[in-house]
Amino acid sequence: MDISYIINELGEDRAQYFNAIAPPIVQTSNFRVGSVAELKALFDDEYSGYLYSRGLNPTVEILRKKLAALDGAEDCLVFNSGAAAIFAAVLANVRAGDHIVSVERPYTWAARMFDVILPRFGVSTTYIDGTRIEHFERAILPNTRVIYLESPNSWEFKLQDLRAVAELARAENITTIIDNSYCTPLFQRPIGMGIDIVMQTATKYIGGHSDTLGGVLTGSGAIMKKIFDSEYLNIGSGVQPFNAWLLLRGLRTMPARLERLTHTTRQVVDYLKQHPRVESVLFPFDETFPQYELARQQMDGACGLSSFYVRATEMGQIVRLCESLRHIMMAVSWGGHESLILPRCASIEPGDFDPSNKEHRMLRLYTGLEDASYLIADLEQAFLKAWP
Ligand SMILES: *Cc1c(COP(=O)(O)O)cnc(C)c1O
Repeated sequence: MDISYIINELGEDRAQYFNAIAPPIVQTSNFRVGSVAELKALFDDEYSGYLYSRGLNPTVEILRKKLAALDGAEDCLVFNSGAAAIFAAVLANVRAGDHIVSVERPYTWAARMFDVILPRFGVSTTYIDGTRIEHFERAILPNTRVIYLESPNSWEFKLQDLRAVAELARAENITTIIDNSYCTPLFQRPIGMGIDIVMQTATKYIGGHSDTLGGVLTGSGAIMKKIFDSEYLNIGSGVQPFNAWLLLRGLRTMPARLERLTHTTRQVVDYLKQHPRVESVLFPFDETFPQYELARQQMDGACGLSSFYVRATEMGQIVRLCESLRHIMMAVSWGGHESLILPRCASIEPGDFDPSNKEHRMLRLYTGLEDASYLIADLEQAFLKAWP
Protein backbone atom coordinates (compact mmCIF):
# COMPACT_ATOMS: atom_id res chain seq x y z
CA MET A 1 0.00 0.00 0.00
CA ASP A 2 1.20 3.48 -0.86
CA ILE A 3 2.55 5.38 2.16
CA SER A 4 0.96 8.62 0.91
CA TYR A 5 -2.42 6.90 0.73
CA ILE A 6 -2.04 5.40 4.21
CA ILE A 7 -1.11 8.72 5.76
CA ASN A 8 -3.64 10.93 4.00
CA GLU A 9 -6.68 8.72 3.42
CA LEU A 10 -6.70 5.24 4.92
CA GLY A 11 -9.15 4.81 7.80
CA GLU A 12 -10.77 8.20 7.27
CA ASP A 13 -14.42 8.49 6.28
CA ARG A 14 -14.77 12.23 5.86
CA ALA A 15 -18.39 12.08 4.67
CA GLN A 16 -19.26 10.95 8.21
CA TYR A 17 -17.97 14.19 9.73
CA PHE A 18 -18.96 17.11 7.48
CA ASN A 19 -16.13 16.35 5.00
CA ALA A 20 -13.71 17.88 7.47
CA ILE A 21 -10.13 17.21 6.39
CA ALA A 22 -8.97 16.76 9.99
CA PRO A 23 -10.79 13.98 11.84
CA PRO A 24 -12.93 14.77 14.90
CA ILE A 25 -11.67 14.13 18.40
CA VAL A 26 -14.38 11.82 19.65
CA GLN A 27 -13.90 12.88 23.25
CA THR A 28 -16.37 10.57 24.92
CA SER A 29 -16.05 7.93 27.58
CA ASN A 30 -19.06 5.86 26.51
CA PHE A 31 -21.32 5.15 23.53
CA ARG A 32 -25.09 4.79 23.35
CA VAL A 33 -26.20 1.28 22.46
CA GLY A 34 -29.35 0.77 20.39
CA SER A 35 -30.68 -2.58 21.58
CA VAL A 36 -30.25 -5.21 24.26
CA ALA A 37 -29.03 -7.65 21.62
CA GLU A 38 -26.34 -5.16 20.58
CA LEU A 39 -25.37 -4.66 24.19
CA LYS A 40 -25.08 -8.41 24.65
CA ALA A 41 -22.85 -8.65 21.58
CA LEU A 42 -20.57 -5.92 22.97
CA PHE A 43 -20.40 -7.57 26.40
CA ASP A 44 -19.45 -10.83 24.68
CA ASP A 45 -16.79 -9.17 22.56
CA GLU A 46 -15.80 -5.59 23.25
CA TYR A 47 -13.46 -5.67 20.23
CA SER A 48 -16.56 -5.83 17.99
CA GLY A 49 -17.75 -2.23 18.41
CA TYR A 50 -17.95 0.97 20.42
CA LEU A 51 -18.97 0.54 24.05
CA TYR A 52 -16.54 2.42 26.25
CA SER A 53 -13.39 4.39 25.35
CA ARG A 54 -11.09 2.27 27.52
CA GLY A 55 -11.73 -0.19 24.67
CA LEU A 56 -12.43 1.12 21.17
CA ASN A 57 -12.75 4.76 20.13
CA PRO A 58 -13.28 6.13 16.58
CA THR A 59 -10.43 8.69 16.67
CA VAL A 60 -8.04 6.05 17.95
CA GLU A 61 -9.31 3.65 15.30
CA ILE A 62 -8.20 5.90 12.43
CA LEU A 63 -4.70 5.94 13.90
CA ARG A 64 -4.70 2.17 14.44
CA LYS A 65 -5.60 1.48 10.81
CA LYS A 66 -2.83 3.71 9.51
CA LEU A 67 -0.16 2.34 11.84
CA ALA A 68 -1.08 -1.28 11.10
CA ALA A 69 -0.85 -0.60 7.36
CA LEU A 70 2.51 1.18 7.70
CA ASP A 71 3.95 -1.86 9.45
CA GLY A 72 2.33 -4.29 6.99
CA ALA A 73 0.51 -5.82 9.97
CA GLU A 74 -3.03 -7.09 10.30
CA ASP A 75 -3.84 -5.05 13.36
CA CYS A 76 -2.55 -2.44 15.79
CA LEU A 77 -3.17 -1.19 19.33
CA VAL A 78 -2.18 2.28 20.51
CA PHE A 79 -1.27 2.91 24.14
CA ASN A 80 -0.78 5.98 26.27
CA SER A 81 3.00 5.52 26.21
CA GLY A 82 5.65 3.32 24.69
CA ALA A 83 6.40 1.86 28.11
CA ALA A 84 2.75 0.77 28.44
CA ALA A 85 2.92 -0.89 25.02
CA ILE A 86 6.08 -2.81 26.00
CA PHE A 87 4.49 -3.92 29.26
CA ALA A 88 1.33 -5.20 27.59
CA ALA A 89 3.20 -7.04 24.83
CA VAL A 90 5.46 -8.90 27.25
CA LEU A 91 2.85 -9.55 29.95
CA ALA A 92 0.46 -11.05 27.39
CA ASN A 93 3.02 -13.68 26.48
CA VAL A 94 4.42 -14.96 29.77
CA ARG A 95 3.20 -16.80 32.82
CA ALA A 96 4.87 -17.92 36.07
CA GLY A 97 7.89 -20.12 35.40
CA ASP A 98 8.55 -18.71 31.95
CA HIS A 99 11.84 -17.37 30.67
CA ILE A 100 12.65 -14.42 28.41
CA VAL A 101 15.74 -13.84 26.29
CA SER A 102 16.37 -10.12 25.86
CA VAL A 103 19.05 -8.09 24.16
CA GLU A 104 21.31 -6.53 26.75
CA ARG A 105 20.58 -2.98 27.89
CA PRO A 106 17.14 -2.59 26.36
CA TYR A 107 15.16 0.62 26.91
CA THR A 108 15.27 1.62 30.61
CA TRP A 109 11.68 0.74 31.46
CA ALA A 110 11.82 -2.56 29.58
CA ALA A 111 14.83 -3.45 31.71
CA ARG A 112 13.01 -2.34 34.87
CA MET A 113 10.13 -4.65 33.99
CA PHE A 114 12.47 -7.60 33.38
CA ASP A 115 14.57 -6.92 36.50
CA VAL A 116 12.06 -5.75 39.08
CA ILE A 117 8.46 -6.55 38.18
CA LEU A 118 8.49 -9.87 36.32
CA PRO A 119 10.73 -11.73 38.84
CA ARG A 120 7.97 -11.13 41.43
CA PHE A 121 5.76 -13.34 39.27
CA GLY A 122 8.37 -16.01 38.62
CA VAL A 123 9.42 -14.85 35.16
CA SER A 124 13.17 -14.65 34.60
CA THR A 125 15.21 -12.92 31.89
CA THR A 126 18.59 -13.67 30.35
CA TYR A 127 20.35 -10.74 28.68
CA ILE A 128 22.55 -11.42 25.69
CA ASP A 129 24.68 -9.53 23.23
CA GLY A 130 22.26 -9.73 20.31
CA THR A 131 24.80 -9.01 17.60
CA ARG A 132 25.39 -12.76 17.06
CA ILE A 133 22.73 -15.39 16.45
CA GLU A 134 24.73 -18.02 18.42
CA HIS A 135 24.11 -16.00 21.56
CA PHE A 136 20.36 -16.44 21.10
CA GLU A 137 20.76 -20.15 20.39
CA ARG A 138 22.76 -20.63 23.57
CA ALA A 139 20.43 -18.62 25.80
CA ILE A 140 17.17 -20.35 24.81
CA LEU A 141 15.84 -22.71 27.51
CA PRO A 142 12.95 -25.18 27.33
CA ASN A 143 10.75 -22.57 29.11
CA THR A 144 11.73 -19.59 26.93
CA ARG A 145 8.54 -17.94 25.70
CA VAL A 146 9.66 -14.51 24.51
CA ILE A 147 12.63 -13.08 22.66
CA TYR A 148 12.84 -9.32 23.19
CA LEU A 149 14.71 -7.25 20.61
CA GLU A 150 15.63 -3.63 20.11
CA SER A 151 17.26 -2.97 16.77
CA PRO A 152 18.91 -0.54 16.67
CA ASN A 153 18.95 0.33 20.36
CA SER A 154 19.03 3.95 21.30
CA TRP A 155 22.60 4.65 22.55
CA GLU A 156 24.92 2.29 20.71
CA PHE A 157 22.51 1.35 17.89
CA LYS A 158 23.34 -2.34 18.18
CA LEU A 159 21.43 -4.44 15.66
CA GLN A 160 20.13 -7.96 15.58
CA ASP A 161 19.78 -10.00 12.39
CA LEU A 162 15.99 -9.92 12.45
CA ARG A 163 15.38 -12.60 9.84
CA ALA A 164 17.75 -15.03 11.55
CA VAL A 165 16.29 -14.42 15.02
CA ALA A 166 12.72 -14.75 13.69
CA GLU A 167 13.56 -18.05 12.02
CA LEU A 168 15.15 -19.43 15.17
CA ALA A 169 12.21 -18.31 17.32
CA ARG A 170 9.61 -19.80 14.96
CA ALA A 171 11.35 -23.17 15.10
CA GLU A 172 11.25 -23.07 18.92
CA ASN A 173 7.71 -21.68 19.15
CA ILE A 174 8.90 -18.50 20.86
CA THR A 175 7.18 -15.12 20.45
CA THR A 176 9.41 -12.34 19.14
CA ILE A 177 8.89 -8.72 20.17
CA ILE A 178 10.94 -5.84 18.77
CA ASP A 179 11.28 -2.23 19.87
CA ASN A 180 11.39 -0.54 16.45
CA SER A 181 11.39 3.03 17.78
CA TYR A 182 14.65 4.09 16.14
CA CYS A 183 13.53 3.18 12.62
CA THR A 184 9.74 3.54 12.62
CA PRO A 185 7.94 1.56 9.88
CA LEU A 186 9.29 4.01 7.32
CA PHE A 187 12.82 2.64 7.76
CA GLN A 188 12.26 -0.94 8.97
CA ARG A 189 9.32 -3.35 8.73
CA PRO A 190 10.05 -6.31 11.01
CA ILE A 191 6.69 -8.05 10.40
CA GLY A 192 7.86 -8.81 6.87
CA MET A 193 11.03 -10.34 8.33
CA GLY A 194 9.03 -12.74 10.50
CA ILE A 195 8.88 -10.85 13.81
CA ASP A 196 5.59 -11.39 15.71
CA ILE A 197 5.03 -8.13 17.59
CA VAL A 198 6.41 -4.73 16.67
CA MET A 199 6.48 -2.02 19.31
CA GLN A 200 7.37 1.60 18.81
CA THR A 201 7.03 4.65 20.96
CA ALA A 202 4.76 7.17 19.26
CA THR A 203 6.16 9.86 21.55
CA LYS A 204 9.19 10.21 19.33
CA TYR A 205 8.82 10.35 15.52
CA ILE A 206 5.07 9.80 15.15
CA GLY A 207 4.13 12.63 17.52
CA GLY A 208 7.17 14.52 16.31
CA HIS A 209 6.49 17.72 18.25
CA SER A 210 7.39 16.82 21.85
CA ASP A 211 3.82 17.41 22.99
CA THR A 212 2.31 13.98 23.62
CA LEU A 213 3.18 10.46 24.64
CA GLY A 214 2.02 7.31 22.90
CA GLY A 215 3.03 3.73 22.18
CA VAL A 216 2.19 1.30 19.38
CA LEU A 217 1.95 -2.46 19.01
CA THR A 218 1.35 -4.14 15.66
CA GLY A 219 1.02 -7.81 14.79
CA SER A 220 -1.48 -10.44 13.73
CA GLY A 221 -5.18 -9.92 14.37
CA ALA A 222 -5.17 -12.83 16.82
CA ILE A 223 -2.29 -11.47 18.91
CA MET A 224 -3.72 -7.94 19.01
CA LYS A 225 -7.17 -9.21 20.04
CA LYS A 226 -5.61 -11.30 22.77
CA ILE A 227 -3.78 -8.25 24.14
CA PHE A 228 -6.89 -6.07 23.77
CA ASP A 229 -9.09 -8.52 25.67
CA SER A 230 -6.78 -8.70 28.66
CA GLU A 231 -3.88 -6.26 29.18
CA TYR A 232 -5.26 -3.37 27.12
CA LEU A 233 -8.71 -3.34 28.75
CA ASN A 234 -7.56 -4.39 32.18
CA ILE A 235 -4.65 -2.01 32.72
CA GLY A 236 -6.56 0.75 30.95
CA SER A 237 -3.43 2.06 29.28
CA GLY A 238 -4.98 2.81 25.88
CA VAL A 239 -4.29 6.15 24.25
CA GLN A 240 -6.78 8.94 24.94
CA PRO A 241 -8.72 10.39 21.96
CA PHE A 242 -7.02 13.78 22.11
CA ASN A 243 -3.56 12.25 22.22
CA ALA A 244 -4.51 9.95 19.34
CA TRP A 245 -5.55 13.04 17.39
CA LEU A 246 -2.18 14.70 18.08
CA LEU A 247 -0.44 11.54 16.91
CA LEU A 248 -2.52 11.50 13.71
CA ARG A 249 -1.52 15.09 13.13
CA GLY A 250 2.14 14.24 13.68
CA LEU A 251 1.93 11.23 11.39
CA ARG A 252 0.89 13.43 8.43
CA THR A 253 4.34 14.99 8.29
CA MET A 254 6.46 12.08 9.50
CA PRO A 255 7.85 11.10 6.06
CA ALA A 256 8.79 14.73 5.33
CA ARG A 257 10.43 15.13 8.73
CA LEU A 258 12.43 11.92 8.47
CA GLU A 259 13.55 12.82 4.97
CA ARG A 260 14.89 16.16 6.20
CA LEU A 261 16.50 14.54 9.24
CA THR A 262 18.24 12.04 6.98
CA HIS A 263 20.13 14.90 5.33
CA THR A 264 20.77 17.03 8.42
CA THR A 265 21.92 14.14 10.58
CA ARG A 266 24.42 13.12 7.90
CA GLN A 267 25.90 16.63 7.89
CA VAL A 268 26.11 16.79 11.68
CA VAL A 269 27.69 13.31 11.83
CA ASP A 270 30.27 14.32 9.22
CA TYR A 271 31.07 17.44 11.25
CA LEU A 272 31.55 15.41 14.44
CA LYS A 273 33.69 12.81 12.66
CA GLN A 274 36.29 15.40 11.63
CA HIS A 275 36.37 17.22 14.99
CA PRO A 276 39.71 16.83 16.82
CA ARG A 277 37.95 16.52 20.22
CA VAL A 278 35.80 13.65 18.95
CA GLU A 279 37.33 10.19 19.13
CA SER A 280 34.60 8.40 17.15
CA VAL A 281 30.97 8.59 16.13
CA LEU A 282 28.30 5.87 16.18
CA PHE A 283 25.66 6.08 13.47
CA PRO A 284 24.18 2.98 11.78
CA PHE A 285 24.49 4.34 8.23
CA ASP A 286 28.08 5.48 8.63
CA GLU A 287 30.68 3.27 6.92
CA THR A 288 32.65 3.06 10.18
CA PHE A 289 29.67 1.58 12.07
CA PRO A 290 30.50 -1.95 13.31
CA GLN A 291 27.30 -3.46 11.84
CA TYR A 292 27.11 -1.22 8.78
CA GLU A 293 26.45 -4.10 6.34
CA LEU A 294 23.54 -5.46 8.37
CA ALA A 295 22.12 -1.97 8.85
CA ARG A 296 22.12 -1.46 5.07
CA GLN A 297 20.51 -4.87 4.57
CA GLN A 298 17.56 -4.60 6.91
CA MET A 299 17.01 -0.86 7.32
CA ASP A 300 15.82 1.57 4.64
CA GLY A 301 17.13 4.61 6.44
CA ALA A 302 18.74 6.05 9.54
CA CYS A 303 18.48 9.50 11.00
CA GLY A 304 18.12 11.62 14.10
CA LEU A 305 20.05 9.80 16.79
CA SER A 306 23.80 9.44 16.77
CA SER A 307 26.33 9.05 19.57
CA PHE A 308 29.90 10.23 19.88
CA TYR A 309 32.87 9.75 22.20
CA VAL A 310 34.88 12.83 23.12
CA ARG A 311 38.56 12.83 24.07
CA ALA A 312 37.84 14.14 27.57
CA THR A 313 40.39 13.77 30.33
CA GLU A 314 38.07 15.14 33.00
CA MET A 315 34.31 15.24 33.41
CA GLY A 316 34.35 19.06 33.52
CA GLN A 317 34.99 19.14 29.77
CA ILE A 318 31.82 17.17 29.05
CA VAL A 319 29.84 19.24 31.53
CA ARG A 320 31.05 22.47 29.89
CA LEU A 321 30.32 21.11 26.42
CA CYS A 322 26.70 20.33 27.33
CA GLU A 323 26.12 23.46 29.36
CA SER A 324 27.65 25.79 26.74
CA LEU A 325 25.24 24.80 23.99
CA ARG A 326 22.95 27.72 23.20
CA HIS A 327 20.37 26.01 21.01
CA ILE A 328 20.76 22.27 21.44
CA MET A 329 19.00 21.47 24.70
CA MET A 330 19.86 18.94 27.35
CA ALA A 331 16.80 16.71 27.74
CA VAL A 332 15.70 13.10 27.56
CA SER A 333 13.56 11.79 24.70
CA TRP A 334 14.05 12.56 21.00
CA GLY A 335 12.05 12.57 17.77
CA GLY A 336 10.68 16.10 18.15
CA HIS A 337 11.47 19.32 16.27
CA GLU A 338 14.25 20.30 18.67
CA SER A 339 17.82 19.03 18.86
CA LEU A 340 18.87 17.42 22.13
CA ILE A 341 21.99 16.19 23.84
CA LEU A 342 22.51 13.70 26.65
CA PRO A 343 25.85 12.93 28.32
CA ARG A 344 26.19 9.34 29.50
CA CYS A 345 28.25 10.48 32.51
CA ALA A 346 25.12 12.09 34.02
CA SER A 347 24.32 8.66 35.43
CA ILE A 348 27.59 8.27 37.38
CA GLU A 349 28.92 9.98 40.50
CA PRO A 350 31.25 12.79 39.34
CA GLY A 351 34.05 11.31 41.48
CA ASP A 352 33.79 8.04 39.55
CA PHE A 353 34.57 9.60 36.16
CA ASP A 354 37.21 7.47 34.48
CA PRO A 355 38.52 8.67 31.10
CA SER A 356 39.79 5.18 30.30
CA ASN A 357 36.15 4.02 30.39
CA LYS A 358 34.93 4.95 26.94
CA GLU A 359 31.33 4.98 28.01
CA HIS A 360 31.93 7.82 30.45
CA ARG A 361 32.99 9.92 27.47
CA MET A 362 29.88 9.13 25.46
CA LEU A 363 27.21 11.64 24.42
CA ARG A 364 24.01 11.07 22.50
CA LEU A 365 22.85 13.69 20.06
CA TYR A 366 19.41 13.97 18.55
CA THR A 367 19.37 16.10 15.43
CA GLY A 368 16.06 17.94 15.19
CA LEU A 369 14.51 19.98 12.40
CA GLU A 370 16.83 22.98 12.66
CA ASP A 371 19.30 23.76 9.84
CA ALA A 372 22.48 21.70 9.95
CA SER A 373 24.63 24.84 9.83
CA TYR A 374 22.81 26.27 12.87
CA LEU A 375 23.47 23.08 14.86
CA ILE A 376 27.08 22.74 13.74
CA ALA A 377 27.80 26.36 14.71
CA ASP A 378 26.30 25.69 18.13
CA LEU A 379 28.44 22.58 18.62
CA GLU A 380 31.54 24.41 17.40
CA GLN A 381 31.23 27.27 19.92
CA ALA A 382 30.48 24.79 22.73
CA PHE A 383 33.58 22.69 21.91
CA LEU A 384 35.68 25.86 22.13
CA LYS A 385 34.27 26.65 25.58
CA ALA A 386 34.67 23.10 26.80
CA TRP A 387 38.36 23.06 25.88
CA PRO A 388 39.39 26.70 26.34
C1 LIG B 1 11.20 6.58 24.51
C2 LIG B 1 11.42 5.16 24.21
C3 LIG B 1 10.54 4.16 24.68
C4 LIG B 1 9.40 4.45 25.60
O1 LIG B 1 8.44 5.25 25.06
P1 LIG B 1 7.55 6.23 25.96
O2 LIG B 1 6.55 6.71 24.98
O3 LIG B 1 8.47 7.27 26.48
O4 LIG B 1 6.96 5.43 27.06
C5 LIG B 1 10.80 2.87 24.32
N1 LIG B 1 11.85 2.53 23.56
C6 LIG B 1 12.70 3.44 23.09
C7 LIG B 1 13.84 3.01 22.24
C8 LIG B 1 12.52 4.79 23.40
O5 LIG B 1 13.40 5.68 22.96
